Amino acid sequence: MGYAFYTLADGREAGYGVTAVCDEKDCTVEIDRGLAYLCGETPGGDEWGCGDYFCGQHLTLLLDVPDAPHTCNRCADRILGEDKASQL
Ligand SMILES: [Zn+2]
Ligand SMILES: [Zn+2]
Repeated sequence: MGYAFYTLADGREAGYGVTAVCDEKDCTVEIDRGLAYLCGETPGGDEWGCGDYFCGQHLTLLLDVPDAPHTCNRCADRILGEDKASQL
C-alpha cells in the first residue's frame, strides 16, 4: 500500500508524490509529504506526532522509547517529558 496523493483534514495535500519544504521554521530543505518525512505515524497527527512533515535533519528517532515513530524535535521533547512524568 502507499498513497501518492491525498488531502489532509486541514486541506493540505500530502503523500509521497507531493513535493514540499520542511515544516521547521526557516528550513528550506525540499522533501515530499510521504510517511518517511511525517512527524508521528498518522497523517494529520496522532498521539506521537503533530502530523507536520520534516527533513531528515529535523526528525528524531527516540531510541529509548519502544515503538516510537520518528518525530520532530518538539514532539520528541513532549514524548520524553510525558515518559519521564509517567515514571515518577
Ligand atoms: Zn511534531
Ligand atoms: Zn528541516
